Amino acid sequence: MRTVIYPGSFDPLTNGHLDVVHRAARLFDKVIVAVAQNETKQPLFSLQERVALVKESIAHLSNVEADTFDGLLVNYVEKRGGQAVVRGLRAVSDFEFEFQLALMNRKLNERIETIFMMPKETYTFLSSRMVKEIARLGGDISSFVPAHVQKALHERLNRKEVK
Ligand code: ADP
Repeated sequence: MRTVIYPGSFDPLTNGHLDVVHRAARLFDKVIVAVAQNETKQPLFSLQERVALVKESIAHLSNVEADTFDGLLVNYVEKRGGQAVVRGLRAVSDFEFEFQLALMNRKLNERIETIFMMPKETYTFLSSRMVKEIARLGGDISSFVPAHVQKALHERLNRKEVK
């Protein structure tokens, strides 16, 4: 049984994330999308909201599940019996940080491999941060996120404006 962990903030999940999930699901027996607590990043959605949005997006994929984690990623990977971590690489700008993270994780646990996957070209410019910004400014995000994520974003941002 080959299990891969896909960790991230997923604040919120985008079609770029989903593209990586689909690719990983074809290579591994099981994919666990692990939503990080990440309090330092002050997420727009709570941990429970983020994981619920992921769950709805992966419901049709039988070998993919969603979970939350906090603390060291390598400890979580051990706990879930994973062999590898998958991360998405969009552009050279992602590389430096991802390279550092992968080598640090290897230092912490040599057994765990990090695998990088490139999304479809149309998603290489997509990030959760950009999607939030465009939604906040009233732009069309329908091709960037699943419909339920779009709805959640609109509800959250409209409520914020009312305050
Ligand atoms: P983090 O805060 O850990 O970077 P993110 O949710 O922003 O969490 O991203 C999780 C992973 O998904 C990272 O490896 C990131 O590079 C990757 N990723 C984010 N957006 C995309 C995208 N559009 N296409 C491919 N990978 C992506």
